[in-house]
Amino acid sequence: MQKTRITIWNEFRHEKTQPEIAAIYPEGLHRAIGKGIAADDFEITYASLDEEEHGLPDEVLNNTDVLLWWGHCAHFEVRDEIVAKVLKRVHEGMGLIVLHSGHLSKIFRQVTGCSCTLKWREEAERERLWNIAPTHPITQGIGEYFEIPHEEMYGEYFDIPKDGNIIFIGHFEGGNVFRSGVTFERGYGKIFYFQPGHESYPVYYQEEVLKVISNAIRWAKPVFFKELECPRTPAIDKIYSENTGPVTGIVQNADGTAK
Ligand code: ZN
Repeated sequence: MQKTRITIWNEFRHEKTQPEIAAIYPEGLHRAIGKGIAADDFEITYASLDEEEHGLPDEVLNNTDVLLWWGHCAHFEVRDEIVAKVLKRVHEGMGLIVLHSGHLSKIFRQVTGCSCTLKWREEAERERLWNIAPTHPITQGIGEYFEIPHEEMYGEYFDIPKDGNIIFIGHFEGGNVFRSGVTFERGYGKIFYFQPGHESYPVYYQEEVLKVISNAIRWAKPVFFKELECPRTPAIDKIYSENTGPVTGIVQNADGTAK
């Protein structure tokens, strides 16, 4: 069996600086997620912001099928050249799962091309997540809805692209609603944004949350890796139209530079 190679990236700052967060996630929330989703077909590694190259050197990125991303207070510290490499890898086929406050990460904003802003409130509200994509691989085993006893409220308007496929609608005790699970495709890569996971509640120990993340990993797993190109291509069939002018086609690489 070919295992899915998963890298769980965590900013890993709250757990080091706030004892109340460390009490919930003593080894970091990335390791709690990793333990929670452990399966025979998963090979899990961990990476975090303060490691060399944020724990994402080429040998790690080139051996990752699906990258999970949790960040919050230090998005701006993530180096642009690392973000560019992650984006390129997504375009080549790597799956990307962006969790909770990762909505404002550089990688999610670049992958979506949007501000990804939203409303928020930290009042330990109950969230009910409605499964509005019952046939989607990500919702299998979840049922019509599930509830998280205490979660940070994320509310609309959420500035994300309109081509997102909505998987879950979150409804919060205080009245707000939110697109709590949305998929995108960019290049050859699949992307899933999943809202649950505020650091001061034990959300990543909850069975349904871990199930959704596991399903999302299996869904986002690449079919293949391939560099995106912008090639000049020969005709398949004979062209009978008369060519009356000079050939003016400018041939470019996928990134816009001249060949
Ligand atoms: Zn939060």
